[in-house]
Amino acid sequence: MNDQASVLVVEDEPKIAALICDYLRQSSFAAHTLDNGSAVDDWVRENAPDLVLLDLMLPGKDGLTVCRELRGHSTVPIIMVTARVDEIDRLLGLELGADDYICKPFSPREVVARVKALLRRVEMLKTDPGAAAHGIVIDENRFVATIDNRELDLTPVEFRLMALFVDQPGRVFSREQLMSRIYRDGRIVSDRTVDSHVKNLRHKIDAATGRKELIRSIYGVGYKLE
Ligand code: CA
Repeated sequence: MNDQASVLVVEDEPKIAALICDYLRQSSFAAHTLDNGSAVDDWVRENAPDLVLLDLMLPGKDGLTVCRELRGHSTVPIIMVTARVDEIDRLLGLELGADDYICKPFSPREVVARVKALLRRVEMLKTDPGAAAHGIVIDENRFVATIDNRELDLTPVEFRLMALFVDQPGRVFSREQLMSRIYRDGRIVSDRTVDSHVKNLRHKIDAATGRKELIRSIYGVGYKLE
């Protein structure tokens, strides 16, 4: 056993996979590679990595399918890797539940920086257990959110959003505030990215409880928890 964070790199181009793994290991991560989408779900179930770097175009199963599969049972942070910038909007629209996106070609340094930033964000939210409002319970140690005793199947970003709303019910958060609290690395993401995550969160709350308006959109301002 060791306490290194482990990263699963799913990438079918051997040179890229080897390069990323080298950089991750130099930064004290444990890195493992898979070159086929079909093997990912079982591997994650067995090995419970701390983060998955998931290429979109893969033999076996493509990254979209794999991401959905993982989200069926896991909140492991996922960074999707795509070869095209314009693909990212389409991916966001698909509500895959990935936490971040990186475009090829990328520098290995950038990949490592993104991995670290995402792990920091996840870690940060584990440190403040037990907020409750509206029948919502956020357990930041177990990374579980329940509402009316129903467990919500949230991505790490959605979980952080939920924790933020629950922490200050009634407060209206602007998109900029939500961004800065969710992405502490100072990264700029578009309003659409924030809207997309909030939309997914509302959809999941609605599906679990039928409470459509729990998170309300305040026109021209942002969002609040009722
Ligand atoms: Ca590929």
